[in-house]
Amino acid sequence: MLTVRHDRKYSKIGIMGGTFDPIHYGHLVAAEGARHHFSLDKVIFVPAARPPHKTQRVISDPEHRLQMTSLAIASNSRFEVSDLEVERAGLSYTIDTVRAVSELYSGAKIYFITGADAVLEILTWHKVGELLKMAVFIAATRPGYRLESLAGNFRGVFDKVRGNIATMEVPALAISSTDIRRRVREGRPIKYLLPEPVEKYIISTGLYR
Ligand code: ATP
Ligand code: MG
Repeated sequence: MLTVRHDRKYSKIGIMGGTFDPIHYGHLVAAEGARHHFSLDKVIFVPAARPPHKTQRVISDPEHRLQMTSLAIASNSRFEVSDLEVERAGLSYTIDTVRAVSELYSGAKIYFITGADAVLEILTWHKVGELLKMAVFIAATRPGYRLESLAGNFRGVFDKVRGNIATMEVPALAISSTDIRRRVREGRPIKYLLPEPVEKYIISTGLYR
């Protein structure tokens, strides 16, 4: 249904990975900021099927997350959604996604957009050395997360990989999917935290209740 189009005219492709359960303005602002700042031709949102680090929590059906992501990006012609990870069996490894996207857009430079908290997690990821050779990492600073001070236990590794990580300031958006799910459960408003079509989707499907 949702496949990444192969097109050689693209030279800089951004990948925004995440669970997107649900997608919110923090994700969209970070992706748009990166698109502008790094002159990306497009940003592909890739909802994760089963993120290796989120095996505890029950994650909403991939179809819901793909649907919400499609609704959220519809108004931006440079944003695209891909079911690449969702269609692939097993755990979602970022390296496989980066590899798949670079094969589709051969010759394009790949940028992987993450929040500053997530970029620190990559230091513990699968085949990080190889991954850092394949893509430039863009870390959006997020309230409460400063790359330097968060390095903590990862300090040794962090010092080695910091050259591959570009940081980018995004307006302080203290929005998280965890908070949105909690708000829905508690009957508090989520309006203005995410695009209206996504809010309507959550209400009509009864997600997170
Ligand atoms: P959860 O609370 O379930 O972990 P989340 O809000 O962190 O959800 P994810 O789907 O885990 O959303 O995040 C996908 C990517 O977006 C990650 O790289 C994350 O760091 C980044 N991100 C999430 N929220 C923000 C935000 N408010 N500002 C900038 N980046 C964000
Ligand atoms: Mg998160």
